[in-house]
Amino acid sequence: MGNYATYMKQFPNDEGFFGAYGGSFIPPQLEEPFKEITEAYLRISRSHDFISELRRIRKHYQGRPTPTYHAKRISDLVGTGCQIYLKREDLNHTGAHKLNHCMGEALLAKFMGKKKLIAETGAGQHGVALATAAAYFGLECEIHMGEVDIAKEAPNVTRMKLLGCKVVPVTHGLKTLKEAVDSAFEAYLEDPVNSIYCIGSVVGPHPFPVMVRDFQFAVGAEARDQIVEMTGDLPDTVMACVGGGSNAMGMFAPFIDDPVELIGVEPGGRSGEIGDHAATMSYGSEGIIHGFKCYLLQNQAGEPAPVYSIASGLDYPGVGPEHSYLHDIERVKYTTADDAACLESFYLLCRAEGIIPALESAHAVAGAIREAKERDRGTILVNLSGRGDKDLDFVTENYGFGDEYLQDWPSLLG
Ligand SMILES: *Cc1c(COP(=O)(O)O)cnc(C)c1O
Repeated sequence: MGNYATYMKQFPNDEGFFGAYGGSFIPPQLEEPFKEITEAYLRISRSHDFISELRRIRKHYQGRPTPTYHAKRISDLVGTGCQIYLKREDLNHTGAHKLNHCMGEALLAKFMGKKKLIAETGAGQHGVALATAAAYFGLECEIHMGEVDIAKEAPNVTRMKLLGCKVVPVTHGLKTLKEAVDSAFEAYLEDPVNSIYCIGSVVGPHPFPVMVRDFQFAVGAEARDQIVEMTGDLPDTVMACVGGGSNAMGMFAPFIDDPVELIGVEPGGRSGEIGDHAATMSYGSEGIIHGFKCYLLQNQAGEPAPVYSIASGLDYPGVGPEHSYLHDIERVKYTTADDAACLESFYLLCRAEGIIPALESAHAVAGAIREAKERDRGTILVNLSGRGDKDLDFVTENYGFGDEYLQDWPSLLG
């Protein structure tokens, strides 16, 4: 094990700040309930019962540890000698890393005596993961979702309903994620005694950024042990895609005190114009969104700017406060992959490895391939945050089966 304990003990501070970022900027009515969550989390996260229960769930229910896999065919196709390894979160139960923090949040709710989990969802991935956790623990679950997203993401709505979750349609404003957040917060404020608000990434007011990071820590910790066992050494570079930043934070945290380069990949979208991407670190500046301080894509008035990515799980105008801090101290480097690069790696993983990745995860792989092309040796470990079942129809209807995107890989063309 590494000596990451040094870093983890220092950040965040008691008020939830990572340097200038994070904290808790919330209406007065929310202060007491969030304080209660913070205190419960601090107490419980050190308790033997909580930790051993979470370990048991990960092993017997989620199927952890997920494997780390040497993507040998892709490495050979790149052909520079640099080797790419994938941490297979697509093999975690429900097909992505999100269940890791949802099981943690639901277990916390159970320990706190809460009866109901409340959250919003955009594309429905967080909603499905949380509904799964609620079913496992026998808790009620209420997911707020914009009407526009409900129409777009029908399979996830069906999943949530099958899992016993109440999906609340949000019908005001643009009827998408932002309105769903407001609606979920209102529902939570009506009964903070019996319910708990469950945030879907390393974002939101303290303690969620640190709590979600801790629940995702297992991803990087497992991968660190696995790659050392497979190669005899630490990787040179660890990479992950960054939306809010939970899969990346879980992957990076165990390597923070190691001599390992860390690179986050943000969605470059269609262009660098505002509204065409969600590359917060490249184009954003300090601001406040959803109760915390971070890098933010914003207009002159400090309102969140419109964002876009081919991967709906990445189109968030803010980013986790810890990422904002790690960016400023230059411990993590942030780069982008655009829609075209994402599609190229999506099809490449399908044909060369037999893995259909989530479009979000394909951004991280695109970044890794670009890095690998510039090196003549070494290893790059990439978090493959989820599987692509949810993206199949969208990708094939809009972009076909890949020949057009694989022109640089002639041996893969039929
Ligand atoms: C939601 C999601 C993401 C983005 O969320 P982060 O908090 O940035 O990790 C990435 N990959 C998959 C598969 C997702 O479902």
